Amino acid sequence: MKSYDRLFIGGEWVEPSSTSVFDVVSPTTEVVVGRVPEAQRADVDRAVAVAREAFDHGPWPRMSPAERAGVLARVAEAIRDDMQGMSELISNEMGSPISWGTLAQVLAPTMILDYYAALGSTFAFDTFKDGLMGPVLVAKEPIGVVAAITPWNVPLFLACAKLAPALLSGSTVVFKPAPETPLDANVLAEIFAGAGLPKGVLSVVPAGREVGEHLVNHPGVDKVSFTGSTAAGRKIGAACGANLKRVSLELGGKSAAIVLDDANLEESIPLLLPNAIMNNGEACISLTRILAPRDRYNEVAESLVEHVRAMKVGDALDPATEVGPLVAERQRDRVENYIRVGQEEGAKVALGGGRPDGIDKGWFVEPTVFVDVENSMRIAQEEIFGPVLSVIPYDDDDDAVRIANDSEYGLCGGVFTGDNDRGLSVARQVRTGTYMVNSSIPIDFSSPFGGYKASGVGREFGEDGLELFLEKKTINLPAGYSPSA
Ligand code: NAD
Repeated sequence: MKSYDRLFIGGEWVEPSSTSVFDVVSPTTEVVVGRVPEAQRADVDRAVAVAREAFDHGPWPRMSPAERAGVLARVAEAIRDDMQGMSELISNEMGSPISWGTLAQVLAPTMILDYYAALGSTFAFDTFKDGLMGPVLVAKEPIGVVAAITPWNVPLFLACAKLAPALLSGSTVVFKPAPETPLDANVLAEIFAGAGLPKGVLSVVPAGREVGEHLVNHPGVDKVSFTGSTAAGRKIGAACGANLKRVSLELGGKSAAIVLDDANLEESIPLLLPNAIMNNGEACISLTRILAPRDRYNEVAESLVEHVRAMKVGDALDPATEVGPLVAERQRDRVENYIRVGQEEGAKVALGGGRPDGIDKGWFVEPTVFVDVENSMRIAQEEIFGPVLSVIPYDDDDDAVRIANDSEYGLCGGVFTGDNDRGLSVARQVRTGTYMVNSSIPIDFSSPFGGYKASGVGREFGEDGLELFLEKKTINLPAGYSPSA
């Protein structure tokens, strides 16, 4: 049991304003594994005030990028020092299979921190140039006080995707993790404090939607960086729009894997599967629509079923587990409801559809494959966020692209083919922010990541991810000016 009785506000562990707590329950055992205070509006007010003071008068925005980068590098190092402990903690919080989690939930965040630490010494914060009227300095300055709001599915990863570039920029941050995963957020806070982050720069306020809305609307916040559902993203975008507050949104997805008619299925299915049922299907970038050529439909469906059937379902902490439990009982209800909806719509369950045999605790559903799916069905249009795949037939490459694009979302996708150039041609036609051609790597931390359409606004990672936390100022200089060394 990992318990906290205080909130991390501006680098200090302080008394919360209420006695309300969040219990963290293991999705595998249904046993309480942790407890943290639930932040209230008053705690958010305090955190924003401290962040404001640290931004307006503290050392952090005035330090060199290299000094700030040093903190990020030390945080990455400290996380790597206890990879196992952090992986177990996250699997206990939200059910991620530990073998996947060690890489994606813990190692990947250290890569993000390292990337931004290195960018601190190469990024052009100041650019002197000859403008049309004379010399000009374009200065990129920290955006101010940032509200970072994340969901529970890849908690440390998403925290680092926001905190690393925000802090490198010189901004200060109030971080609101999801109520399901406050423990790793508090551990991260401890690590930042130990790595020499000055007082006031970071606060962690575990809270639910209402207090999140208060943070978003807070006049002391300059920028909201949100990852979560499209429904919440629309509200947050509207609230920020009304106040002309800067905002970036990483939202839901319903991505398609296109298996072309020349694909070698023995290679293609194992390549696409890790991104189809990734993190128990609780991933925004999951390839949940599998598009198969009509004349190879049965072959693709059978191969998929065979590979999914072989996936080991079980305890999230067992290194052999490939599919663990869903985050919460309500998430299992949601996924089971979609499985019913799919059947009512006329799709057929080719595999799964129920709860796994022999497991009597935990919020498990069987990995499920639907066949005879039409793209207009709800199971093909709505984000299920569980291990449920739909196999959809298409006529030719144009039809496959049309179906892939027939979605309100545009986050990710992949094409699997014997011809890389043909794959690249398909990739260029699918309207999503990230794409894979015969690859199982959906995200490159040095390159932009984000959504077209209802999957988001803005791009995280790479230099774009840093630009999200910078304002640009053009300073016109007198003729003949040149910067002193
Ligand atoms: P959610 O939108 O319900 O909650 C996400 C976070 O936002 C939580 O911390 C929640 O407390 C907070 N929140 C919710 N409504 C809010 C509001 N109106 N104002 C302020 N804060 C609010 O999402 P979820 O169900 O927890 O997470 C799953 C969703 O996240 C899926 O849709 C998934 O696709 C998406 N996601 C997207 C990405 C991406 O990079 N595009 C990555 C991971 C998850």
